[in-house]
Amino acid sequence: MNDTISLQHMPVNAVKLQGILGSTLHNTIINRLNTVNYRNMVDIFRYRNETDNRWRCEFWGKVVRSAIWSLRSEQNQELEEKIHETVHDMLSTQTNDGCISSYPEERQLKAWDIWGRKYVMIALLRYYDTLNPDPQVKNALTRMLDHLIGQLNGEPLQNFGEHCGLAACSILGAVVGIYRITGEKRFLDFAKKIVDAGCCSKHNIFEEVLKGTPPCELSNGKAYEMMSCFQGLADYYVYEPQPQYKKAVLKFFDAVRTQEIFITGGGGMLDAVGEFWYQGKRNQTRSDAGANGETCVTVTYLHLCDAVMSLSDVSSAPLEMVHTTCNALLGAVRNDGRFWCHANPTPLAGAASKVPASDQMTQQRTTPFDGHDCCIAQGPEGLALAAMDAVMRTPGGVAIHYFEPMEIDLSSIPGVKGTLTIESNYPFNGKIYIKADLEQAADFELHLLVPAWQKNPLQIKVNDRIYTGNPGGYLAIKRKWSNGDFIQFELDFSMRREISPDGKFKAFLAGPLVLARDSRFGGDVNVPPPDDLQYTLCMEQENSWARFACRLSDGTKLCAYISAGSRFLPGNLLRVWHDIK
Ligand SMILES: [Zn+2]
Repeated sequence: MNDTISLQHMPVNAVKLQGILGSTLHNTIINRLNTVNYRNMVDIFRYRNETDNRWRCEFWGKVVRSAIWSLRSEQNQELEEKIHETVHDMLSTQTNDGCISSYPEERQLKAWDIWGRKYVMIALLRYYDTLNPDPQVKNALTRMLDHLIGQLNGEPLQNFGEHCGLAACSILGAVVGIYRITGEKRFLDFAKKIVDAGCCSKHNIFEEVLKGTPPCELSNGKAYEMMSCFQGLADYYVYEPQPQYKKAVLKFFDAVRTQEIFITGGGGMLDAVGEFWYQGKRNQTRSDAGANGETCVTVTYLHLCDAVMSLSDVSSAPLEMVHTTCNALLGAVRNDGRFWCHANPTPLAGAASKVPASDQMTQQRTTPFDGHDCCIAQGPEGLALAAMDAVMRTPGGVAIHYFEPMEIDLSSIPGVKGTLTIESNYPFNGKIYIKADLEQAADFELHLLVPAWQKNPLQIKVNDRIYTGNPGGYLAIKRKWSNGDFIQFELDFSMRREISPDGKFKAFLAGPLVLARDSRFGGDVNVPPPDDLQYTLCMEQENSWARFACRLSDGTKLCAYISAGSRFLPGNLLRVWHDIK
């Protein structure tokens, strides 16, 4: 068991996912990312006519950054061309002073302006890093950041914008990124000022978290803006490796994980769209505590897990990443990639349905955003990131966190030429078979992430030899691999019952999946299932919408939360937490 490996993303196109994550990512490229009107999203920057202090300014950056990362896992010529075109269209909106903003000059720095500029910077940085290291892009980023620093005129960043400065200060990661590609010390100095002030007008959130202040009492509790600030601190730590920075990120992650994350791996509640920390772990079954689990929170939690993995200390981050991916993330998008939930079904303890974010429902639009919404723009980023974190490079080989069918190109490991192929129906079944196709025998190390919910140590067969991995950590297999070698194991899919912190509700899980009742099975979703934890699979034709369906001892059927409510219609009810009689 080794919990301190250094993890990095695999090269572009090294992992070809062929299961539900791969197909949802593919459908998202075809049905969402290739259909967005990129020119329209640039128009507000072209005309600087976002005069109502809203956050349309985030859509372009969010969509473009997710599109660029989606191309790491699946090549798509049409999308790539669109990105090249729209990046240059965005650059054309930069004025002589260096400004790229959707707000007219008199409104600049207020409301969501800096937040929107941040997403433009992130998308341009990602374009530069991943698709085209065009000096014009580097120059535009330099001028953009110089313009912002000049405009602030020495006034602290946390005094601007929404959510006690969290939104504006979450630019930290982008500032560090621009320092990384330019080497200009003034940008690192600007990042230091943001870190020293602690990203908030109320108190220094980095110091507060070290004192033990819970996430819901940090700043105003706005969940994903806050996580973005800690993600920025992890980026800053690379250049200023002060132990307290790393400690703050890890302590915050641990606090979020243990106090805020729901059974589904999402988080955020309190308001009508599920966007604030509110002791979510304890309150997730309440029906009077706002909506549950904004998709932006789910995606930014994956970012936080990724940031923690880059600090390479704990196996809890990849474990959380897998759980969130297999439930809250894939459960918030319709299979065809067209629709995303803004909040996840609420309440989780009661009959509820998945519905598209309001701006996707033309009759019910609450915001004049032309079919965009923060979560629709954000969701594809979660899929792209989950795909990148499914398998990662380690110093001596690869780490596999997530076991859906896929092909892994190993040629980034020195001296190795060949692939690993995973055959499985994961996350809907526990049987995993991995085959090595190698041009010649080679030494490398494989880290397999053993789920924490395994009841017993996992027996892993490599050819004829048995390795044993303890639940909740990595099993490292270091050996000389030959062509045709195989790995075989079966993850524990026995049913588990979880009791809610208030003791009033129970929920069921199998393998990585949270299970739910769905009205399409017939019967009342509010009738609690029995407790004997016995089930048989029922994957008949009429249940084909459910990727995992099982029948309990009294005939009640449950399916994976991913599939529950997947019609995205108000009448398609589901229920996760059931009454304890
Ligand atoms: Zn959102």
